[in-house]
Amino acid sequence: MPELQGALADRVHGARAVVFDMDGTLVLGDSSNAGHRPLPGAVELLALLRRRGIPFRIFTNGTAKVPAVYAGILRHAGLDVHDEEMMTPSSVAADWFRRRRIRRIRVLGLDGVQGPLREAGLEIVGPAEPAAGVEAVFTGWFREFTFPDLEAACRDVWAGAILTTASNVPFFATQGGRAIGASFAINAMLRAMTGRRARVLGKPSGTALRCAVRMMGLPGVACAHTVVIGDDPALEMRMARSAGALALAVTTGLSSRDDFTRAGAAAAPNAVLDGLGPLVALFS
Ligand SMILES: [Mg+2]
Repeated sequence: MPELQGALADRVHGARAVVFDMDGTLVLGDSSNAGHRPLPGAVELLALLRRRGIPFRIFTNGTAKVPAVYAGILRHAGLDVHDEEMMTPSSVAADWFRRRRIRRIRVLGLDGVQGPLREAGLEIVGPAEPAAGVEAVFTGWFREFTFPDLEAACRDVWAGAILTTASNVPFFATQGGRAIGASFAINAMLRAMTGRRARVLGKPSGTALRCAVRMMGLPGVACAHTVVIGDDPALEMRMARSAGALALAVTTGLSSRDDFTRAGAAAAPNAVLDGLGPLVALFS
């Protein structure tokens, strides 16, 4: 795996934007995913980017909470993060639907999934709410899922609604072991019933990174000058690669150096770091 020096270091120093993962990259939570603490270098790196005027986004793939709540958690951990600098797959979905003039969306999820769509002025149809003319179904974190929700979403898709999702990751790590990705299970049911594969709007889609870059006020070509930093080859590294960004892996979260080495070309980082420390020097 290449070291972070030479041309690669120059590309990092000259980055126009940075997209961070949250858990395992900037902070670590305890077993209940609370009590987040900043990882070494995180506070300094964000302060440095702000001082240099380099825009950044912190992009977590969870939709249990709205972005402003995650931003509050990070501020509580000591990181200087504004609400609008935090994003979730629902932030991407709000942008994606608006740009396609898709207005009526059945959301299989509660406040955390719905919030950014509602803020964008989109018409939200509740999970099992009777409605005609639904243009898209969007699935996210939704442990309250029931059979009537499945029936309502199937009817929409059979009638032509497009199927979209925040995430299609089967498991995520907790200190209590692996937990089931709610939208993955829901998407599997919907696929079995409708034959449709949900379009992923969160990580690792290139759509998500292009949206993050746009949200920072930069043109699409700035993806090539954006640094993505994360701890998951299947999510951040893959997303960075598919949008042509620079992919930097850290080993402070889920994955070891070996995991990144084994990840395959589509998810291969440009460099693997033991933490954010070296980036503080590089961005200085
Ligand atoms: Mg992570």
